[in-house]
Amino acid sequence: MHHKCQPCSIRAQFVRFCSTVFLCGVVSIVSAKSSNPSSPNSLMMAVAWKQTAAEYKALYYQAYNIARMQVERALSTRTPGDKTLAVLMDMDDTILNTVNYWGYLINNNQAFFDDSIWDRWIPENKVVPTPGSVDFLAFCKDNDVEVFYVTSRNQGAKTFEYAMDHLKINGFPYADENHLTVLTDTSNKQKRQDEIGNDYEIVLFMGDNLNDFKRVYYVTDIDERTKLMEQDKDLFGRKFILLPNPTDGHWIRAVFGESEPPPTNTNREILRKAATRSSWEQ
Ligand SMILES: [Mg+2]
Repeated sequence: MHHKCQPCSIRAQFVRFCSTVFLCGVVSIVSAKSSNPSSPNSLMMAVAWKQTAAEYKALYYQAYNIARMQVERALSTRTPGDKTLAVLMDMDDTILNTVNYWGYLINNNQAFFDDSIWDRWIPENKVVPTPGSVDFLAFCKDNDVEVFYVTSRNQGAKTFEYAMDHLKINGFPYADENHLTVLTDTSNKQKRQDEIGNDYEIVLFMGDNLNDFKRVYYVTDIDERTKLMEQDKDLFGRKFILLPNPTDGHWIRAVFGESEPPPTNTNREILRKAATRSSWEQ
């Protein structure tokens, strides 16, 4: 028995070895696929829209056309002694297109915002102006309407320098220390907005996040946030001009409880619940 078993045992080991090699191959193929079509990245549709949709670009033109009409209206009703006019601008996804970062996330199988990648990406100067932004702000400058940039970013000691570079490289007016505010320790822009409001007549605010207009919207409850926005519904398109952003912002915070949720299974489930908040039940 034993001598017969010997070759059997060797054969069995060989078969086991082969199946292990085969299974490893299958597993690696499956895992390669799982980061691709079989488990689609939850950011994919939103980022594809940002990358390709003419509608996305048109929304920027629409916003900047409305902004220009509001500035023209403000200019036409000026009387001597009035405060200097100003517009308050957010930077990322308002005057700057950041889609190159989101493309990188997709290529690296990231399904959620990644702060460390963002901090590495910012100094690379891959931002480009959003459609209509440079022309609108040049129009403001030509008419002595001052432009203030207020952004929340934190890439350490060089944060301000990086943000200033983004303004200068992309040809934005008023790229100087008086007109750029970089908040590294908070997303609360209210204090700076109030300071500017004391010295200037603010014609309008532009941003891709309600927080770019007023801090009062900074709540985590989805319905409360919507209700607060609706109390100001008459201001949109007049004083508050909003740009689209389906990938990041405080709407994410309202869904997940934090603005930059980690890529956990719990958060994937929360995202699914958000997407099915209203659903046909049959
Ligand atoms: Mg922004």
